[in-house]
Amino acid sequence: MKPPLFDYHDPRGLEEALDLLARHGDDAKVLAGGQSLVPLLNFRLARPDHIVDLGRVPGLAYIRRRDGVLRIGAMTRQATLEVSPLVASHWPLLTEALSLVAHAQIRNRGTVGGSVAHADPAAELPVAFAALDASFHVRSQRGTRMIGWRDFFVTHLTTSMEPDEVLVEIEVPPVPEGAGHGFEEFSRRHGDFALGGAAALVTLDQNHIQAARIALLAAADTPLRATEAEASLTGQAPTEEAIAEAARIAVIGVEPTGDIHGDTEYRHGLIEAMVRRALKQAGERASEVR
Ligand code: FAD
Repeated sequence: MKPPLFDYHDPRGLEEALDLLARHGDDAKVLAGGQSLVPLLNFRLARPDHIVDLGRVPGLAYIRRRDGVLRIGAMTRQATLEVSPLVASHWPLLTEALSLVAHAQIRNRGTVGGSVAHADPAAELPVAFAALDASFHVRSQRGTRMIGWRDFFVTHLTTSMEPDEVLVEIEVPPVPEGAGHGFEEFSRRHGDFALGGAAALVTLDQNHIQAARIALLAAADTPLRATEAEASLTGQAPTEEAIAEAARIAVIGVEPTGDIHGDTEYRHGLIEAMVRRALKQAGERASEVR
């Protein structure tokens, strides 16, 4: 299929892009790496009158660490983040999540901001950013807003960004010292979107869990944090029983949407198993660090 007709704009600066979106916002779509938007256009599931390509807007692709905080420009390619030594040493959960995103060819074009703005609950980066308590900086001609991940992801493929806004930066706070990480998912073939998964961070104090974070992939319309399960682990020894109980709690009330690849019950059990594995891996890595 070919895309429907649209007017193509390739602004050379952010102000020009924001001006175009202020004029055409409701009828426009931002184009980043095109790895999700172009298929949507070709299948005619999106029919914008205007495409605003960010490809030639300078200054939106960077990876910086200042005062312990990671700042990722929205147009940073997923592959660039994946091989960043800075990210691997301070936010290894992101490196691991990226290795599970699609195929290398897609990560070469796909951007970090595009994955976030697309807001697919089966996408790895939004789940990793939920586990990392990230915030998103968005710009429009009306100004700049910083939106925490909980308020950013509204539902399937929908964020709280307005049509005239552009995601410009992802801000990731430092990970607690000594934290171990785990990211586990199951997909039918390498590179497919996962049927279910989980990200975990665990910090240990002597032989007990000081704090745990658990984020669920493809469990609901948005990335989810399993806060009750997280709390259940505080002060516990990282035993198989404690981890299994936390995983059981993590999926209480969770009803993943089923399809031909797996019904709700199957996915429910799958996500519970992924939480168990991610927590186990995070716990083991935390004890190695100590
Ligand atoms: P685009 O496709 O250009 O845009 C996506 C959406 O975000 C559009 O609505 C666009 O308007 C909006 N947008 C983009 N950037 C901005 C911005 N800065 N501000 C405001 N709005 C913006 N992803 C996974 O996470 N896991 C997978 O397993 C996976 N498998 C895939 C398999 C295939 C075969 C393909 C084709 C894609 C797959 N993807 C997967 C999606 C891929 O990661 C995309 O790169 C990503 O979802 C979108 O990034 P993009 O830069 O290509 O954005």
